[in-house]
Amino acid sequence: MPRTVPHIVEVAVPLPLEKTFSYLVPPHLAERVSPGKRVFVPFGGRKLTAYVLSVTETTATDRLKEVIDVLDDEPLWTDNELEFFRWVASYYLHPLGEVLKTALPTGINLQSRKANGDGAESVAGGRRILREAFYRPSDAAAPVRPLGDKAAQILATIREAGDMGAAELRRRFGQCSAQLKRLLELGLVAREEREVYRDPFREEGEEGTERDLPKDLNPHQQAALVAMCGSLDSLVFAPFLLHGVTGSGKTEVYLRAIGHALDQGRSALVLVPEISLTPQVVRRFRARFGSGIAILHSGLSDGERYDEWRRIRRGLVRIVIGARSAIFAPLARIGIIVVDEEHEASFKQSDGLRYNARDLALVRGRMERATVVLGSATPLITSLHAVEQGRLGFLSLPERVAGVPMPQVEIVPMQGIKQTVSPALQSALAGNLASRGQAIVFLNRRGFSTYLVCGECGAPLTCPNCSVTLTFHKSRGQSVCHYCDYAIPAPGTCPACTSAELKELGAGTERVEHELRELLPTARILRMDSDTTSGKGSHGRILSRMADSTADILVGTQMITKGHDFPGVTLVGVINAEASLNLPDFRGSERTFQVLSQVIGRAGRGDLPGRVILQALNPSHYAIQCAVSHDGAGFYRQELEFRREAGYPPFSFLAGAGFSGTVEQAVEGRAEAAARLMMQIKREQGLRVEVLGPAPAPLYRLRGRFRRQILLKSPSRGDLRRLVSAWLTRREPASNVRETIDIDPVDMM
Ligand code: ADP
Ligand code: ZN
Ligand code: ZN
Repeated sequence: MPRTVPHIVEVAVPLPLEKTFSYLVPPHLAERVSPGKRVFVPFGGRKLTAYVLSVTETTATDRLKEVIDVLDDEPLWTDNELEFFRWVASYYLHPLGEVLKTALPTGINLQSRKANGDGAESVAGGRRILREAFYRPSDAAAPVRPLGDKAAQILATIREAGDMGAAELRRRFGQCSAQLKRLLELGLVAREEREVYRDPFREEGEEGTERDLPKDLNPHQQAALVAMCGSLDSLVFAPFLLHGVTGSGKTEVYLRAIGHALDQGRSALVLVPEISLTPQVVRRFRARFGSGIAILHSGLSDGERYDEWRRIRRGLVRIVIGARSAIFAPLARIGIIVVDEEHEASFKQSDGLRYNARDLALVRGRMERATVVLGSATPLITSLHAVEQGRLGFLSLPERVAGVPMPQVEIVPMQGIKQTVSPALQSALAGNLASRGQAIVFLNRRGFSTYLVCGECGAPLTCPNCSVTLTFHKSRGQSVCHYCDYAIPAPGTCPACTSAELKELGAGTERVEHELRELLPTARILRMDSDTTSGKGSHGRILSRMADSTADILVGTQMITKGHDFPGVTLVGVINAEASLNLPDFRGSERTFQVLSQVIGRAGRGDLPGRVILQALNPSHYAIQCAVSHDGAGFYRQELEFRREAGYPPFSFLAGAGFSGTVEQAVEGRAEAAARLMMQIKREQGLRVEVLGPAPAPLYRLRGRFRRQILLKSPSRGDLRRLVSAWLTRREPASNVRETIDIDPVDMM
C-alpha cells in the first residue's frame, strides 16, 4: 500500500548529543523504513548513519531534511529493546545514539572487502557477511558421457548428503573446482549462495564434546531450583541472589533453571566476568544443551562477533553466554538472566557508556518479566542489603557438593619483618616443595596506586573526611585524598602512633618471583599477571603447566583467583593481605574480603588438604579476620556499619565527574568551574547533594593527560540526577578538556 500522508522518522545519531532529530521520508523509501533500522541522513555538513526510533505520519514537514537511504532489510532491534536502550540512555545520562552504537557489534559497520570465489565475503548495507556456495543434486537425466572418478565420487557424496558447502567439499576432496564446474554444466548439481556464520567453537569440534547429564540435586540445590522454576512458571519478574561458595553447585542450578526456561520456549542470557578466562563454563553449557548457544566475548574477531549477533537476532540461538556487553544481545523472549560472580567489578564498563551489566540485568529482566539470578560466593554488600530489604529473593547453597573441608589458614603478622617473603612462608614453601606439592603465591596488588603504611602499627594514612586511604604522590611529596583533595606532606610520621617508620607499599609480582628464585633455586616458578599473559595463548600455557605438574610455584595477581581449578595446589601464600584494603576507594574492605575468600578457596580443592599462609601488617582488620574464619555474615554486619557511618552506598548514591586533558591548567580550570556550577545548581534547587573535590585522580597522569575528578554523593537518587543533568545542560562547551559522567562509579582511579 503506497502511503499518501508524508512520514517523518525520529532518529538518534551516534554523537554526544542529548537530543533526537526528525527527517522526512521520501516516498520511494516509505515502505522500507521502520523503527529499529539504520538510515543514512545528512547531518551538519556531512552524512552519517542514524538509528530510527519511531515513524509517524505528519503534515508539518517544513524545512525537514530527507533520509538518503535505509540501510537494513530487517530491523536491528525490537520495540522492547529500544525501550530498554532509552532507559539506559536516560539513567546513565548518555546520548541514546551512542548507547545504540555501543549495543551493536563492531563488525556491522566494517567497510567492504573484495569478494573472492566460493568463500566470498560480501557487503550488504555496510555489513560484512560471509557467503559460501552450496551444491545439491538436481534431477537431470543420467549423463550421456561418463564422469571421471573424482567427479563421480563428488557427485555421490553430494547426493548422499543432500547438499554440501564448498568448504566441506574442499576439505574432503582437495581442489575440485574443475569437477564441480563440469557437474554444473551437465546439470547434475545445482549451486546456490548461502549466508554462513563463522563458528567460534570450531577449534573444539562437534565430536569432541562430552555429554553432561543433569545431576540429582542435593536439598539446598533443590530448594533454589524450585524457587526459580516457580517464578519462571508464573511469568513475572523475580530477582534472586544465589549465595554459595565455589563448588557448592551453583552452576548446576543455573543449568537446570535454564533447561526449564528453554522447555517453556523462552531463552536464557548468562553473564560471566571474563569468558576467555573461563572456557570450562562454556564447555559445560555445550555438553548439557548441545547447539543453539552463542558466545560473546573480547576474544572474538569482529566478523565472528557480528555472526553471533545475527544468529541471536534471527532466533537461531536459545542461550547467550557472554561478558558484560552481552546484556545488549538482541535475544528475544528472555526467560532467565544469570549473572555469575555478581560481585566482580568487570561488569562495569569503565569508559564510553559507563554501564553496569549486573545492574542492567535487573532492569532488562524487569522489562522482560524474567527470572534474574545473581550468583556469588561473596555477594556485594549492596546485594545483601537489598535482600534484607526484600528487594532480592535469597537462595543459599551453604555446603560444598563434594564435602571438601575449607582449608586451614595461618596469619603471619608482618610488623618488624623486613623481607617480602616471611621466614614462616619461606619454610612452608620449602617443605611443600620437598613433599612434591604445588603452591600459589598471591600478591593482592593492583599495580599503579602506592600508599604509605606505618611499619610499627600497620595503619595506613587515611583521609579524615572520606575514610579512604590517601594516595602517595611521590613527585609532589604529598599524600592526597582523591575524593576531596585533602593533602598532607609525606612521608611524615604515623598519625596513629607517631612512629617515623612509614613504608611505601606495593611490591610487584616480578620482585617476588625474583626473591623466590633466590630462596628456592630448584623450584620451577611461573608468574601470572597482566605482563606475562598479554600474548595470545600465554594464559592457557601457564595453566596447563600447572595442570601437568611441570611447575611447582605460581606467583600471580588476582588473575589466578578467576575460574580455574588447581587440584594439585596444597599451599597458598598471600604476600600482603591488606593491599586492596588500602586502595583509595571506600570499597577497599569489601574487595579485600572477596579476594581473600577466593584465594583461600583455591587451596585443597583436590583430595589433598590445603594450607594457607597469610602475611598481614594489619591482621586484626575485620575484612581479614572474617575472610580467615569464613564469616560472611560477620563481615556484612561490620561493613554495613562502616558504610552507614561514612555515608556510602547503600546509604547514598554516587556519581563521578571526570576531567582530563593535556594542558594541566585547563583541566584544573574546567574542574573548578564545574564544581562552582554544581554548587550553584545545588543552592538554586535546594538539592541534597555533597560536591566533593575537584581532586586529582589517583592516576593523576595517564597517557599524557592530566586527570581530576569530582565525587557527588546524595541520599536521594532523584536529587543527584537533577544536579548532574542540570550541569550537563548548563555547562559551557569545552574544547580541550574531556568531561565525563559516571553514574554509580565502581572504580575511581
Ligand atoms: P559452583 O558453580 O558453585 O562452583 P558447580 O555447579 O560447578 O559449583 O559444582 C561443583 C562440582 O560438583 C561440579 O563438578 C558439578 O558437576 C558437581 N555437582 C554439582 N551438583 C551436583 C550434585 N547435585 N551431585 C553431584 N555432583 C554435583
Ligand atoms: Zn603507626
Ligand atoms: Zn577526603
